[in-house]
Amino acid sequence: MSTLLPIEQALVRMLAAAKPIGDSVDTPLIDAIGRVLSQDVLSAIDVPPADNSAMDGYALRSAEVANALPVSQRIPAGAVSAPLAKGTAARIFTGAPIPEGADTVVMQEVCSVQTGVVTISGAVSAGDNIRRCGQDIHAGETVLPAGRLLRPQDLGLLASVGLATVPVYRPLRIAVVSTGDELLEPGSGRAVGGRIYNSNRYTLAGLLHNLGMQLIDGGIVADDPDATAQALLDAASGADCVISTGGVSVGEEDHVKAQVELHGRLDLWKLAIKPGKPLAFGAIGDTPFIGLPGNPTSVFVTFCLLARPFLSRMQGLDELGLPALTARAGFNIDKPGKRQDYLRVTLSSTVDGLVANTYANQSSGVLSSVSRSNALAIIPVGATVAEGDTVDVLLLDLLT
Ligand code: AMP
Ligand code: MG
Repeated sequence: MSTLLPIEQALVRMLAAAKPIGDSVDTPLIDAIGRVLSQDVLSAIDVPPADNSAMDGYALRSAEVANALPVSQRIPAGAVSAPLAKGTAARIFTGAPIPEGADTVVMQEVCSVQTGVVTISGAVSAGDNIRRCGQDIHAGETVLPAGRLLRPQDLGLLASVGLATVPVYRPLRIAVVSTGDELLEPGSGRAVGGRIYNSNRYTLAGLLHNLGMQLIDGGIVADDPDATAQALLDAASGADCVISTGGVSVGEEDHVKAQVELHGRLDLWKLAIKPGKPLAFGAIGDTPFIGLPGNPTSVFVTFCLLARPFLSRMQGLDELGLPALTARAGFNIDKPGKRQDYLRVTLSSTVDGLVANTYANQSSGVLSSVSRSNALAIIPVGATVAEGDTVDVLLLDLLT
């Protein structure tokens, strides 16, 4: 047990080895969702480009508000305004440019208009209901920094400064190799005689898809040293990173670790975490390699905790970790553990704040525990927990 590596140390070592890919592609904005900016993006313009009205109403000089003001012009959105004649008001609409000379817009609900003359009831201050030129973005300002994963609202923001293309990194290509004689692809017959369906491939396909990365399917590989070596070498030849599942523990049927040592380099193996102890990290030739455990829950948890930040750094992303919160434990842990435990929990909002309840079966083979949870509660080595205690949790649903 003493050789198990704490996850923090493993992560530091993995991130130090993560070399960002440099390849940037100018991409149409409409296709850039989920991609990562490779350069800071600056605005060439002010947004909004001119002072404009926040209301449908009347633009006027605030000093003249007590007077009855003839309406001297009408300014819809998209129109060009003329300077406002002294002693008059302009009919104005939301988004329309403020005419020179006006210093306020009075909303139409407090105006009364008779035969082309407007009178105002109520107090008015200079600057009311005016959206200032550049109040959103100033010309020359950084709109979004390099490393930002583009979300829908980011695409809108980039469009608002007039950009049609943006520089983003090409998606990482990740080869996924599923080891195990027992594995059968869904759709290729009934799983009888000790066979089980290959669920890990699908979990990983989804996780990689949500990170905007491309999956290269390395298929199912038999529990045989030569087949394992061949599959790993093939996978490494066309990918930015190879991920395998299973075969990385200590049984005679586990060949991944030995073949990686033979054909590449093993940098770390076996972590002090639960689930996911037998994780391996290294390289096959120059291609980084992550050997995930076989158990489906371990695959999900170790991908989220270790592979995801590693791949995110390779992809050039600035945000690496899962969002962290605290919650009250809705459970007890009486026996202190020797590995840091990541319990699959469901967070619920209650009058006492967020409460984390554990899924009943925390076995690493029970994939329902992940599917029916929305967070991981972190139980440190040696800790016990009483119901109501504060626990750290990592949110899964925002990202996975
Ligand atoms: P291993 O580390 O290869 O001994 O695998 C540990 C457990 O995970 C075994 O029960 C395997 O059958 C299971 N397992 C391995 N790979 C997969 C997979 N791709 N999909 C579902 N279960 C798997
Ligand atoms: Mg196996």
